[in-house]
Amino acid sequence: MHQVMILGSGPAGLTAALYAARAHLKPLVVDGHEAGGQLTLTTMVENYPGFPDGLMGPDLIAAMRKQAERFGASFQGGAATAADLSRRPFRISIDGEVAECQTLVIATGASAKLLGLPSERTLMGHGVSTCATCDGFFFQDQDLIVVGGGDSAMEEALFLTKFARRVTVIHRRDKLRASKIMQEKAFKHPKIDFTWDSTLEEILDVNRGKVTGVRIRNLKTSAVTDRAVDGVFIAIGHTPNTQIFRGLLDMDEVGYIKTHDGTKTSVPGVFAAGDVQDRVYRQAITAAGSGCMAAMDAERFLEHGGH
Ligand code: NAP
Repeated sequence: MHQVMILGSGPAGLTAALYAARAHLKPLVVDGHEAGGQLTLTTMVENYPGFPDGLMGPDLIAAMRKQAERFGASFQGGAATAADLSRRPFRISIDGEVAECQTLVIATGASAKLLGLPSERTLMGHGVSTCATCDGFFFQDQDLIVVGGGDSAMEEALFLTKFARRVTVIHRRDKLRASKIMQEKAFKHPKIDFTWDSTLEEILDVNRGKVTGVRIRNLKTSAVTDRAVDGVFIAIGHTPNTQIFRGLLDMDEVGYIKTHDGTKTSVPGVFAAGDVQDRVYRQAITAAGSGCMAAMDAERFLEHGGH
């Protein structure tokens, strides 16, 4: 029986673990499918306060994990696959094995969204990717597409210029959603160009088992053109990882967990922190902040005998 179980090991989960461990609650952290969360898929983090020269995302996560471990947090690999939140202790299946906890912190984050093209799934890992940091290296001196107009798309495009010959950002509107500073960096970069008001209709060529090009539809004119490229990076946002809690907790229409009075969810004793409950800010620092809040909320809940 765990006093505090934390699902997810990104900045929200690890900060919750640090605070719960320092409160002598011996938290168990379940790593989740993507241990370390989205920061492990990124490179330089320049906006985490306290690091004026920036630091690498995976290094930040490793340091947070070490800090939580130092105060007694324990970690388990695997991911939660089912939950019974109907009574306490809560029962959580972790890859088939059931564990019990008095309080639960859900910090399972969000995962990359896809366009929904069959060719995108077939060619994933064969020229299609959602992670420039993971796969950029394989595209030395090649022509690449990045789909999306947010900060992630700009970050991916900028990172890919280290390897690629040319990076074309394809965006469905004629204005970017990305922050001004990221827009400016991308606009200034000689290797990056933009195709506006457009979307991918197909990724070619499934028959050859690799990316050889893309079919682009201009959404204003409906014109369709084929372009030869070697790789496609999809950076169109994320979906919250809340599937196993559908019907158990209040969520918004896309599945972000609703919180109130800090990190409380609709079930007393269950708290949510980080991207899984935040569709607005979604920063490492805000995730860490809400992880701290969740641990403090769980501690108070236990102190008050579960109320
Ligand atoms: P986002 O801000 O939601 O942007 C998603 C982009 O993809 C939008 O431009 C959207 O177009 C486009 N899109 C969505 N669905 C699409 C579809 N089906 N087909 C084509 N295009 C589609 O997501 P994000 O870029 O991942 O950023 C998420 C959050 O993380 C933001 O708060 C961002 O500031 C933060 N972030 C920060 C940094 C940084 O500070 N360095 C880096 C990465 C992310 P529309 O614009 O038309 O909606």
